[in-house]
Amino acid sequence: MSDPFLLLILSSPSGAGKTTLTRKLREKFPTLRFSISHTTRKPRANEADGKDYHFIDRTQFDELVEREAFLEWAHVHENCYGTSLAEIERAKSDPSCSGIIFDIDYQGARQIRAKVPEAVSVFILPPSMVELERRLRGRASESEDAVRKRFAAARVEIEHYGFFDYLVVNDDVDSAFRHLEGVILAERSRRFRRAELAERLLRAGTL
Ligand code: ADP
Ligand code: 5GP
Repeated sequence: MSDPFLLLILSSPSGAGKTTLTRKLREKFPTLRFSISHTTRKPRANEADGKDYHFIDRTQFDELVEREAFLEWAHVHENCYGTSLAEIERAKSDPSCSGIIFDIDYQGARQIRAKVPEAVSVFILPPSMVELERRLRGRASESEDAVRKRFAAARVEIEHYGFFDYLVVNDDVDSAFRHLEGVILAERSRRFRRAELAERLLRAGTL
């Protein structure tokens, strides 16, 4: 019995632990595919085109907007990011794929929810602002200025928690992951996602 198809939006302020939790999600749910966004941001040293993002320039991005190729798009940290409709079609046409996870910001979450009401959205919260700052500083790769900017941006992200269906607190990683897993399992059992099976059973042969 295959799992019903899920559109899962996962957002968080930077440093709350989204990368850590999505790594675990990939291991536990290999049939969930991660959406690869388009962005005008330049690739970082460890990023590959077509794997982490589709890296394009502003003219190409504007053309895609013009052609209405995006399900959602937004300006985030001075760059443009968007989820193409083709990305979802590819996932839906793959029989081994049971859903797609979008790592997008609150603006994208708001747009997808408005267009696809059955999409499920989860916002990951840090247990406290002190701990968020500690985690941001713990990533030694960032300069003091970058940490300050990310911390200020994190406040703005958290202000928009109301756009999300679920809030998962990442205090202890294993506990946060169990909650995330619980959301996915519960959403797969929603009546509207299983009604077709119930109806098929009713139409099936009698004794
Ligand atoms: P994000 O992708 O949201 O920016 P990361 O997953 O990179 O966040 O996590 C930020 C930092 O916090 C990393 O150093 C990570 O190891 C650490 N971290 C993540 N979750 C926890 C947790 N529950 N407890 C303690 N440290 C954590
Ligand atoms: P980064 O540049 O660090 O990879 O991502 C910066 C922010 O952009 C993150 O909050 C990430 O969730 C968001 N983001 C990535 N792709 C998309 C997208 O396609 N649409 C939107 N709205 N946000 C995105």
